[in-house]
Amino acid sequence: MGQDGVPDGTAEGGGSSVTTLDVTWAQAWTRAAAQVVAEHRDELVELDRQIGDGDHGENLHRGFTAVLAKLDGLTEPPGQVGDVLKLVATTLMSTVGGAAGPLYGTAFLRAAKVTATERLDAAGVVAMLEAALEGIVVRGKASPGEKTMVDAWTPAVHAAVEAADGGAEPAAVLAAAATAAEEGAVATDPLVATKGRASYLGERSAGHRDPGAASSALLLRAAAEAAA
Ligand code: ADP
Ligand code: MG
Repeated sequence: MGQDGVPDGTAEGGGSSVTTLDVTWAQAWTRAAAQVVAEHRDELVELDRQIGDGDHGENLHRGFTAVLAKLDGLTEPPGQVGDVLKLVATTLMSTVGGAAGPLYGTAFLRAAKVTATERLDAAGVVAMLEAALEGIVVRGKASPGEKTMVDAWTPAVHAAVEAADGGAEPAAVLAAAATAAEEGAVATDPLVATKGRASYLGERSAGHRDPGAASSALLLRAAAEAAA
């Protein structure tokens, strides 16, 4: 489904207008994401220490610090939402190591491709989230239930679709996605990992939250809060 970034103005009656998210939101999201990653860095390190190698919080923090520096160093303001997401993608790819760098890099790159527009309506937000999930799945080949970030993004996309179908504004679509991602992250606790480094632990991976699912929920909550 294409999205042209033009609000379609469906069924708006008495004076309320269709709100959209623009490049200012994309920058606010990026900054909010960098902040939550910094705030939760130790927690993400600890989660990854339980079932991985303990670098997830460190990796993401390094990545988003670099993203902020890039954003601050721009000589021309970005014109489209996708310009910001592409900057995030390329910076994460080159600065975040491990599994998460290429996974988040691909997610943001795919998201950037469908947001080459000045404004996102609710359908545009859904398309962005769908593209991000698709990127993660293309890259990591994980299915839901394998205790990865897919377990946060899949319910997030479902919730976003449902919210948008119900007529929610972009900010509410993001809020629904964030809540579903948080629930999805919590729901990874009892799962046995069958993808990624945590899968080396087999049954012993159960009883711990997946760090990538946890960080995905943080990123989506940051997106929602930037839109609120
Ligand atoms: P590494 O495991 O290389 O140290 P990170 O610690 O940065 O990488 O990231 C680990 C996270 O990456 C996991 O918690 C999981 O959410 C995610 N992940 C790992 N492999 C995959 C995969 N194949 N598909 C989706 N997500 C994955
Ligand atoms: Mg790790």
